[in-house]
Amino acid sequence: MGGAEFDKAYARLARLLSGNYNTARATVIRESVLGCPDEGIEYARYRLAGGGCLYGLKETAMLVRKLGVDVGEHPDCGAVRVYLQRVKGIKAPTMKQVDDAAVEWSRTVAAMAGQKVVSMELHRPAHHDAVCLYYDGTGKMTSCEGLPRGFIVSRSILPRDYATREVVTLAEIAFAHGFNDYFTHEQPFYLVGVGKDENHSRELQEELAEHAVPQLMISEQARTKTARIHLRAA
Ligand SMILES: [Zn+2]
Repeated sequence: MGGAEFDKAYARLARLLSGNYNTARATVIRESVLGCPDEGIEYARYRLAGGGCLYGLKETAMLVRKLGVDVGEHPDCGAVRVYLQRVKGIKAPTMKQVDDAAVEWSRTVAAMAGQKVVSMELHRPAHHDAVCLYYDGTGKMTSCEGLPRGFIVSRSILPRDYATREVVTLAEIAFAHGFNDYFTHEQPFYLVGVGKDENHSRELQEELAEHAVPQLMISEQARTKTARIHLRAA
């Protein structure tokens, strides 16, 4: 990981948020897969961290059945690592434990929901190179192609309280396994509300400011800011 890589990624983000172009085009894909918010997962119809391992088995299986999507899993999943630590009490899970748990979880969910498992490729360096997080209220943001690299949280399919908890977890991953201390008060990690129009985007931005930012540790709050963009119709 290097400062030059961060500077380049951050310059693109600064341009996006400068107001010169405050919209992005949605890329809707045909494959119907529920993928991880990880910026290394290039396309997914919707996103749910670690195939829902932080959301709950019954909740995820019901959601998957309702949406009619297949369940994506990928290697080196940060959300599955958090699940093994928080829920299973394994302090330092090995890579094999993380990968095995990701496969087992997605198989269980898919079986309960009557859907398939899809193994997804991860396209990023060993560290996370996300400079922001997109909080998608439109349900149309399947990719951040053409935009600065960022996590995607599918707010449109999740209750507010869980969606904002997921935002907090992912921001913590960016500060611990990503550009880490390159994020400063001056060059913060942006949480971006993505709505169908300016008003919708503003509502999502306010939701992030009220329900996600205060949950971050004080040192990380100072390195986080909210912003908004809206999606043009595809
Ligand atoms: Zn993941």
